[in-house]
Amino acid sequence: MTILPDFSDLVIEQVSITNEVTIIVHAVSPTAPCPCCETNSKRVQSRYTRTLRDLPASGRPVHLIVRVRRFFCQERTCPRRVFAERFPSLTLPRVTFTLRLQEALREMGFELGGEAGARLGKKLSYPGSPDTILRLVKQAELPPASSPRVVGIDDWSWKRQLRYGTLICDLESRKPVDVLPDRSSEYATAIRKGAPQALQVADRWHLGKNLADSVQTLLARCRAEIRRALHVPAVPEQERGETEPVPEEERRPPRSRSAQLAREGRRAQKLDRYTQVVELHQQGLRALDIASRVGISARTVHRWLRNGSFPEARRRRRRPSLMDPYERYVLTWWQAGNRNGSQLYRELISRGYKGSSKAMYNYLSTLRIPPAGSSKSTSSRSRARKSIPWLPAPLENFSAQRATWLFMCQPEKLDERQQEELALIRQASPSAETAYRLAQAFMYMIWEQAGQQLDTWLSEVTASRLPELESFAKGIQQDKAAVLAGLTLPWSTGPVEGHVNRLKLMKRSMYGRAKLPLLRGRVLHVAEKAPARAALLAG
Ligand SMILES: [Zn+2]
Repeated sequence: MTILPDFSDLVIEQVSITNEVTIIVHAVSPTAPCPCCETNSKRVQSRYTRTLRDLPASGRPVHLIVRVRRFFCQERTCPRRVFAERFPSLTLPRVTFTLRLQEALREMGFELGGEAGARLGKKLSYPGSPDTILRLVKQAELPPASSPRVVGIDDWSWKRQLRYGTLICDLESRKPVDVLPDRSSEYATAIRKGAPQALQVADRWHLGKNLADSVQTLLARCRAEIRRALHVPAVPEQERGETEPVPEEERRPPRSRSAQLAREGRRAQKLDRYTQVVELHQQGLRALDIASRVGISARTVHRWLRNGSFPEARRRRRRPSLMDPYERYVLTWWQAGNRNGSQLYRELISRGYKGSSKAMYNYLSTLRIPPAGSSKSTSSRSRARKSIPWLPAPLENFSAQRATWLFMCQPEKLDERQQEELALIRQASPSAETAYRLAQAFMYMIWEQAGQQLDTWLSEVTASRLPELESFAKGIQQDKAAVLAGLTLPWSTGPVEGHVNRLKLMKRSMYGRAKLPLLRGRVLHVAEKAPARAALLAG
């Protein structure tokens, strides 16, 4: 890069430096070619000046004043009578920025997005509005598509968890291959679109996470079974009759199987804790002691005892909303499989809806069916590392969440007390015992890349008749080839996660303006320019 732009065919007439730098230039050549017929002409028709912005010099804005000549075209057959001379090494026709300034702004756009790019530009004396920067980014050519052999896939929430996008990553080069506007639950479709020839590899961490979720649901459901193996319940049977689950609200569409199971599991665990609280209270224990033995807060104990009956999860009372008159319409729309929020908003407006799009999205989010195992927002990894407190009595304060970690962990990593608790749980409940064997067998496949055992494992799950694990296995069946690859091949899907994280940062930096083509452009372009850094982030 030189201090001045490419002036090889220009003459500098004058340079003035104040708070700004102004350079007056004109062309060296007495002639100029017609842009239409390329015939050189020397007959000048008139002159005018064009002002261009260039890169700042030492923080000072630089203006180039270019004296431009209009020529008569001397080729008789040419339709162009008069043309203005052009400066292809300096700028494009009808543009007020030099080429190298455009290039600099485009790079800012790729790295920062329009808004942040323009803000930084202003500080550094670069002109260019957010719109200009975004336009430059959109005009940029994307790197040519590669043909990866091995790919990893992940999805991310695109719009208030209503729409999802998918990122496909080449696991060999560790670069993103494509960004697609759909979600990766249809992995096979995504692959056909983005990288038809590639072998797809499921993410081992997500596999383990999804299995842990299923195990936790199962253990929550079995809490009473596990605890009662060691303690006799004091609450008479008939009291439990009042606490049957309430049916789902009518307006909610059916949930996915795993979400339904998870809800039932949570309820079963809570019911058993409640039973235990009542039992200990009748034995005359103080609330604080009950709390520490059951493994819940003293406040909860107080609340439960005050209420005098099982605290069934309350249905949320809804405030009247501008959405109410359109509820039936929206439900029909949703159940027909529509998910385009902005389209729905336009339809509602045309039907007289007066509320905001935010209110509409809030309503839609109550309809959302949580996709099985696609969420990775829970911090179960960090939670799982918490140490296990001293147990007042075996399994009295049983927690499905804590037990899940014992189930998923490599046995040799457990200390003596943890091993003891695990053994007690396995002894207490046949379901827990089966789940433990199946969970460990699956984790073994992850740890040892022993995917050849997958089929056997799947049939063992079917034989186990544990609904939570069957639900997990069903998800595996849908993506079997990728799961098998994930359990067999040494590729790490770390790069995918790294690129998805970068993509989320970019999306945030673009506020509401992040349209997919732009986001796609930024993800692919930046990865192309800075592969070393992308790899670093991914690792
Ligand atoms: Zn011409």
